[in-house]
Amino acid sequence: MSGFALNSKVVLITGGARGIGKGMAQAFLEAGAKVMVADLGPGGLADWNYKLADDDELSQTVAELSPLGSIAATQVDVTSKTSCIAAVAATVEAFGGLDVLVNNAGVVQSGSLADFSEAHWDQTFAVNSKGLFLMSQAALPHLRSAASNDTSACIINTASIAGKQGYPNMTAYCGSKFAAIGITQSLANELAADNIRVNAICPGMVGTAMWLEHLLPSKPGSNTNKDQDFEAMMTQTIPLGRPQTAQDMGQAAVYLASANNVTGVALNVAGGFEMH
Ligand code: NAD
Repeated sequence: MSGFALNSKVVLITGGARGIGKGMAQAFLEAGAKVMVADLGPGGLADWNYKLADDDELSQTVAELSPLGSIAATQVDVTSKTSCIAAVAATVEAFGGLDVLVNNAGVVQSGSLADFSEAHWDQTFAVNSKGLFLMSQAALPHLRSAASNDTSACIINTASIAGKQGYPNMTAYCGSKFAAIGITQSLANELAADNIRVNAICPGMVGTAMWLEHLLPSKPGSNTNKDQDFEAMMTQTIPLGRPQTAQDMGQAAVYLASANNVTGVALNVAGGFEMH
C-alpha cells in the first residue's frame, strides 16, 4: 500500500499494458483510484525494433489487476490526435470524469548519429514528446472540471534520467526526454492558474522491454541471460546497487498525484544514479 489515498479519483495511464505503466496502474488501484490503462492495439506500430504491447498484454493486465479495484482498458496511439481524444472520451464514459493523466507511453531506439534513421527519430519524438502535448490537450477540459471541484487534478509525465543527462548513441531518446521535462515545466507554469499540477518522474533503470529487449542486447558482450546481465550491470552502476522497479514508479506517481503543493518537478527515482 502506498500510504496515500486517492479514493475514487479517475486515472488514465498511457503505455499502461505493461512495464512501468502497469506498476503505476497497480499502485493507483491500491490507493483507491479507478484506472483506465491505454496502449497500442492491433494496427499499432508493428515494425519497431522490439515488440510493443499488443491487445493480449492489455487484456491480461486488466484481468490480473481487476481484483484490486476498478480498471478498464482502451486502445490509444498517442501520436494521433483523434486517438488521444477517443481515449480520453472512453475514460470519461467509463468512470465519469478524469482527475489524473499519466503520460507514460514511450519508445527507445539507440544508434549512432551516422546510422540513425529519420523514421526512428520522428517516431521517438512523436511518442515521447508530441504524445504528451496531444494527450494533455485532449484531457484539458476534463482536468479543468476536476480541478474546479478539488485540488487533485494533475498530469504526470514519465520522462527519464535521460532527460537530464545526454548519453552516447541515445540522441533521439535523450532529446525527446529533455523535451518531456521542458513540456512539464511549461505546462506546470501555464496550468497553475487552473489549479492543475504537472510533474514528471525520471526513472533510472527498470528491467522492462526497453532494457531487456533493446538496450541490453545492443551492448557489446551481452550474453543470453538478459536478467542476469541486467542485474550485474545495475549492481555496478547504481549507487544503491540495485535496479529500480515498476512498483517504485507507481509509488512515485501516487505521491505526485497526492502532493497538492508540488508542481513542475522532475523527480528522479534512480537509486542515486542521477542527482540533479
Ligand atoms: P515498455 O516498452 O514496457 O512500455 C512502454 C509502453 O508504451 C508499451 O506498452 C508500448 O506499447 C507503449 N507505447 C509505445 N508507443 C505507443 C504509442 N504510440 N501509443 C500508445 N502506447 C505506446 O517500457 P517501460 O520501460 O515500461 O516504459 C514506460 C516509460 O518509462 C517510457 O516513457 C520510457 O521512456 C520510460 N522510462 C523507462 C526506463 C526504463 O529503465 N525502463 C527508464 C526511464 C524512462
